[in-house]
Amino acid sequence: MEFGNSCLNKLVSEVEREIDPVMTTLDDISMHNQKRVLRVFRECKVSDYHFKGSTGYGYNDQGREVLDSVYASIFGAEAALVRGQIASGTHAIALCLFGILRPGDRLLSVSGAPYDTLQKVIGMTGEIKGSLLDWGIKYEQVELLSNADLDWTNIDRALENPVKMVMLQRSRGYSLRKSIDVNNINKLVRRVKKIQPEAIVFVDNCYGEFVEKIEPPMVGADLIAGSLIKNPGGGLAPSGGYVAGRQDLVDLVSYRLTAPGVGAEIGAVMGWQRMFYQGLFMAPSIVVQALKGAIFVSRLFEKLGFDVSPRYDEVRTDIVQAIKLGSKEGLIAFCQAVQASSPVDSYVVPVPGEMPGYSDQVIMAAGTFIQGGSLELTADGPLRPPYVAYFQGGLTYEHVKISALRAAEKVMKAGGVK
Ligand SMILES: *Cc1c(COP(=O)(O)O)cnc(C)c1O
Repeated sequence: MEFGNSCLNKLVSEVEREIDPVMTTLDDISMHNQKRVLRVFRECKVSDYHFKGSTGYGYNDQGREVLDSVYASIFGAEAALVRGQIASGTHAIALCLFGILRPGDRLLSVSGAPYDTLQKVIGMTGEIKGSLLDWGIKYEQVELLSNADLDWTNIDRALENPVKMVMLQRSRGYSLRKSIDVNNINKLVRRVKKIQPEAIVFVDNCYGEFVEKIEPPMVGADLIAGSLIKNPGGGLAPSGGYVAGRQDLVDLVSYRLTAPGVGAEIGAVMGWQRMFYQGLFMAPSIVVQALKGAIFVSRLFEKLGFDVSPRYDEVRTDIVQAIKLGSKEGLIAFCQAVQASSPVDSYVVPVPGEMPGYSDQVIMAAGTFIQGGSLELTADGPLRPPYVAYFQGGLTYEHVKISALRAAEKVMKAGGVK
């Protein structure tokens, strides 16, 4: 196939026609979530003096307290902790684990191995010092079934022994499995509470916020955590993380973040507060821009002959799109094209390199305003078969489309249609 401009134009109109019904359902989701967010902002009487910020201890910072309430209400939780002092998603999740689990407790992951960075937190890989294992916390995991569904039989079996916390990762993260929707989280909550009413259901909510109309606490999850440089920061939050859930659990997490006794009562917010509020307000719409972009790229590359996951019309509960490029050259060309189409550092050419914690070389494209901000358009993948590019984010659909088209051209040039 000659891959010229007219050929690509024809393909784009076909793709846009085919994805149109899916796009409409996404408009419905962003409308629903925007209304929900706006309602909470009004109920909590968000005002411009909440954006002023504080210094020192940050005692009586109204902006911080109201933002916690806003997050709690939006996610359907009793309480929340939203802080710039939480350095990343991994930090937010680690706070939950260390804040709640005690020596001798058992932690059970029901979605297989957790996200790479959490394996070190748990003590599954690398240095044990400082990990949960070092603190005498036992860990066990139930693998997902081969179709990536939850393995109910083995979950039931694992729940025969006392478990303090059941953990689930909503997003696929950087694996080829599909994401787990809130409906299945609901089913898990029912199951766990029936067998062990005291067990805490904790969800790693990274990349999942505002992708569906409901969030895990609304179906009974006890605690969730995520990163502000992903979905809920709306592309504006310069750093930070959040935790939301039951009041007693959020209190325990706050004691771990600061200290017992002071908990959520201290923590200066400097000058970031307006961006936290404004980013959250914009998040439902931005997340859908990213989703629309992912659906476009999914259908485009599928039509070009590549395996993609999820397919354009599959149900999504995170913003990650995987594209199996099938060759090293294809993966490199893809990531370089995404970088070249970025608003920041477009002139930089990414090359594969070693990354701590990864056994293969990795290539990453991230021309973002916020370092590592992955609600902005980024692409990356490990250099091993089947050479999968993970593509996520995008503050505007137009940007994702421009980037995807450039990537398609470059991949075709590098390897041709398979
Ligand atoms: C990003 C992510 C994390 C970790 O977040 P960082 O901010 O990179 O530390 C954890 N779990 C999932 C599913 C993620 O996508």
